[in-house]
Amino acid sequence: MSRLSATLSRVKPSPTIAVTTKAQELKAAGRDVIGLGAGEPDFPTPAHIRAAGIRAIEEGRTKYTAVDGIPELKAAICAKFKRDNRLDYTPAQVSVASGGKQILYNALMATLNPGDEVLIPAPYWVSYPDMVLLAGGEPVIAPAGIETGFKLTPEALEAAITPKTRWFIFNSPSNPTGAGYTWDELKALTDVLLRHPHVMIMTDDMYEHLAYDGFEFCTPAQVEPALYDRTLTCNGVSKAYCMTGWRIGYAAGPQDLIAAMRKIQSQSTSNPCTISQWAAVEALNGSHDFIAENNTVFARRRDLVVKMLNEVEGIDCPTPNGAFYVYPSIAGLIGKTSAGGAKITDDEAFATALLEETGVAVVFGAAFGLSPNFRISYATSDEALKEACTRIQTFCKGLS
Ligand code: GLU
Repeated sequence: MSRLSATLSRVKPSPTIAVTTKAQELKAAGRDVIGLGAGEPDFPTPAHIRAAGIRAIEEGRTKYTAVDGIPELKAAICAKFKRDNRLDYTPAQVSVASGGKQILYNALMATLNPGDEVLIPAPYWVSYPDMVLLAGGEPVIAPAGIETGFKLTPEALEAAITPKTRWFIFNSPSNPTGAGYTWDELKALTDVLLRHPHVMIMTDDMYEHLAYDGFEFCTPAQVEPALYDRTLTCNGVSKAYCMTGWRIGYAAGPQDLIAAMRKIQSQSTSNPCTISQWAAVEALNGSHDFIAENNTVFARRRDLVVKMLNEVEGIDCPTPNGAFYVYPSIAGLIGKTSAGGAKITDDEAFATALLEETGVAVVFGAAFGLSPNFRISYATSDEALKEACTRIQTFCKGLS
């Protein structure tokens, strides 16, 4: 096709979605595939949240709403920020969109001019750089490798900021590594940001509630109140509330930025699904007891996967304190050849051969900007994880 825009030629399709789709296709074709690609909980949406969605349908709350969210949901979001993060926001500072992705996209579209830089620590979630490119900006990648626990150091942050830096994107606990920043680690970063008043902070807190081993979540505007006026605090109900398909993300920040995001949404998708908004009200206001129960299961699965991967010579898998991902290094396997004859030249070749030869779908590290690694989402059953890790062990033992 020759009629695509110049902008589109700069971006690629989402690799996480590509891997998930490929695994589903192979499964449908009868292959024995274990998908560890998709970052979504295997648990169903809790019953009280589902019931709120059904009620909304039955009571006819199925029409257009205010473009960026019903007042009831905005009130629930303000209460959530106060309760969980000690942050005060008014409803006029809140935006609701069709998933966390649309929130980030709206914010970038609303603020970037050609040449504006967006600073992104790597490994990063796959969509950040491509969204920046779609919005006409330039992603600038700052390394946060395994040697610093996949966390950006203040020195690396300082070194990557330029006069053109418009945003710093922060994500903790991280997709794809699961690494969560402690208060002190985050404070060291916000101290740097205080010295650069032209930089806005976009914090993606989607994995806030998925924390293990007593890890205490914190967010930039909470750690450094002086950054409140230039921080967009983004979150959503997808992961903690097992509501990925309902597509509800939200953010709070400066009122003029929220208004600009609303303008974009008013000319693109209009309001997020009305029924989903009512379900999200229940998610945020209702019982949160199931989150602790889910986290007990996630922590057990994490330990299982970390242990089995570290039994493999050539794999180094750190134990993360959040999200539901691990991001092992396969530096010790590069250059080898698989039993099926595939040369493991890089992490993409590893993931491809693993899928072809064992049916285990993972996402290769290059997609997240840091190699040689791969991402496993352990938000799936213990049995599937055990079987998948056994297959990975066998595959790696077969490398020569
Ligand atoms: N955020 C999830 C993931 O990383 C969902 C897929 C996507 O939107 O990228 O797998």
